[in-house]
Amino acid sequence: MARIHCSVSNCHYWKSGNICDASEIMITSDKVGDEMPDSFDAMQASNAPQTPVSSCMETCCKTFVAAGSAARNVDGIYRK
Ligand code: SF4
Repeated sequence: MARIHCSVSNCHYWKSGNICDASEIMITSDKVGDEMPDSFDAMQASNAPQTPVSSCMETCCKTFVAAGSAARNVDGIYRK
């Protein structure tokens, strides 16, 4: 599995060294991130519509969960 580097240190999956420790993540367009519920995440990725963008400014991590948030595990993805 590819190593994912991430500096969003208040995410549940972030670990020291700016590493993402999630077993799966979903990156999508800002529009999808804004409009879809938390339940839309990596488990739905294979059937999700394609969302081309113009620059990195238009992408986001849909898997982000604030550290300490009760929202974790809402989509059933295994989260370390
Ligand atoms: S789930 Fe997303 S925001 Fe959270 S550490 Fe991983 S890449 Fe960063």
